[in-house]
Amino acid sequence: MMTKLYNFLIYAVLVSILVSPSLAFSQELNVYSARKEALIKPILDTFTKQTGIKVNLITAKADALLKRIESEGRNTHADVFITTDAGRLYRAKEAGVLQAFNSEVLEKAIPENLRDPEGYWYGLSVRARTILYVDKYIDKSKLSTYEALAEPEFKGKICIRSSNNIYNQSLVASMLEANGEAKTQQWANKFVKNLARKPKGGDRDQVKAAASGQCDVAVVNTYYFGKMLKSKKSKELKAAQAVKVFWPNQQDRGTHVNVSGAAIAKHSKNPENAKRLIEFLSSKESQQWYASVNYEYPARADVEPSDLLKSWGTFKSDTLNLAKLGENNAKAVMIMDRAGWK
Ligand code: FE
Repeated sequence: MMTKLYNFLIYAVLVSILVSPSLAFSQELNVYSARKEALIKPILDTFTKQTGIKVNLITAKADALLKRIESEGRNTHADVFITTDAGRLYRAKEAGVLQAFNSEVLEKAIPENLRDPEGYWYGLSVRARTILYVDKYIDKSKLSTYEALAEPEFKGKICIRSSNNIYNQSLVASMLEANGEAKTQQWANKFVKNLARKPKGGDRDQVKAAASGQCDVAVVNTYYFGKMLKSKKSKELKAAQAVKVFWPNQQDRGTHVNVSGAAIAKHSKNPENAKRLIEFLSSKESQQWYASVNYEYPARADVEPSDLLKSWGTFKSDTLNLAKLGENNAKAVMIMDRAGWK
């Protein structure tokens, strides 16, 4: 009797192993993503359907995610690392948690300035950090460049978040590259004096402040504006409807842009499949979805942005290699500190 039960149990265990979904896939891939699940899971599912490679998704906030992969060291399960801002991708590279790789597919698909020159990371979607203005308060003809926002005519008229935010650090890093240290410091000193209020909140809060009359212009990443325009919260929608997009620096280097990007983890156990996934995310079909779901611009030049983004008009973007944003980050932070940018 006992042997029979014993045999049955062994049989049951064997069957459950054989039909277990986790073992139905011959290969697996672990993705550490700072992108929220809704903004990446569907495209990973498509990848799984096409390749049979199961993808396990771990999501966390960008800075926490980098800390996690760092502290896991060579024991990490991470294969692919996805995060936002070239400044952060640079930090990950410097922290030694990424591995360089070459890919003809990615080199063809992703413009050179949107990827690391040494192949440590590749940009997948593009956002501009641009100027939104309340046309009720300020005439568009008064706007021109980021540099001009330091002029006295903007005294008390600008809303922007704090300097500990990477988006602002990257913007200043791009100005450092264009104008040099001395000029950028002078600019920051004057710019900070023009702020309408002590920096607080995120990009959306700057738009809300502008809409409620606290400032004439807000410096904001484009996808936040897109999200607000599609928001079900009437407060957000109304605030967004009160502002318009202005593309700065069109007569010189172009508007500052940044990316979300992907990399292969240094201690990945499946670098070939990791590369396959990143290449898949650069395909025309993936790019369309990946960009539009987060109101971003595709990294590929041959994929059109969504209709909403098209409605803001085309613009010239700064073609500075985004790796420079990382290289200049420490200097940018110092400049902002010295200027008293909270
Ligand atoms: Fe963001």
